[in-house]
Amino acid sequence: MIRLIILGAPGSGKGSQCKWIKEDYNVPHISTGDILRKNIAEETKLGIKAKSFIDKGELVPDELVIDLLKNRLEENDCKERGFLLDGFPRTLSQAEALDEYLNEKGISIDKVINLHVPDEEIMVRAINRRTCENPECKEIYHLVYNPPKVDGVCDKCGSKLFTRKDDNEETVRNRLHVYHEQTEPLIKYYTEKGILATVIGQEKFEDTVALVKAVL
Ligand code: AMP
Repeated sequence: MIRLIILGAPGSGKGSQCKWIKEDYNVPHISTGDILRKNIAEETKLGIKAKSFIDKGELVPDELVIDLLKNRLEENDCKERGFLLDGFPRTLSQAEALDEYLNEKGISIDKVINLHVPDEEIMVRAINRRTCENPECKEIYHLVYNPPKVDGVCDKCGSKLFTRKDDNEETVRNRLHVYHEQTEPLIKYYTEKGILATVIGQEKFEDTVALVKAVL
């Protein structure tokens, strides 16, 4: 049982790190972005409300994501095995709401990993990112550093790759701005709690994995 948060700007590689952490620690991986995108695809009430924010690179209102997250944490897999939060919390209010929820349950977060990547590098990564459309796979490629063997096709499952609608230059810039304004204060928040470890994201995925392993 482990309870982890991975913090980092959009496109810093949180999702890729979560894939191996989830396997190695047998812990449920909860990405609020993935849950929201699923809701958009299924045109649920939540999805309809969230879509315009996501498309612009803005944050979805706190109350929507906080409810979504609490509901997810009530599921049995989280009760039995903990959680790995990816993309939540993104604001101080979300972090406080999470703490309040965990306090009520008498549980706490073991570690917050802060994955740091400079903005210029993030721009290059996001624009070159391709994601597998298969919800069971969601493999992430980079057209330069980690291209698929066949153009537009996932090596792992053969499904089509797509470019996330919010991975264009203008939206990425806006997402980075939002990150610095609203999410970066969480670094101080968790440092003061004594549970934050910063890892500098490396060009090669395996090098970052080694650094994350060292702090876990
Ligand atoms: P991600 O896949 O984590 O990059 O999330 C994609 C988009 O979903 C973000 O740009 C936000 O619009 C929205 N989103 C995901 N998680 C949150 C959150 N915790 N709070 C607010 N908006 C979120």
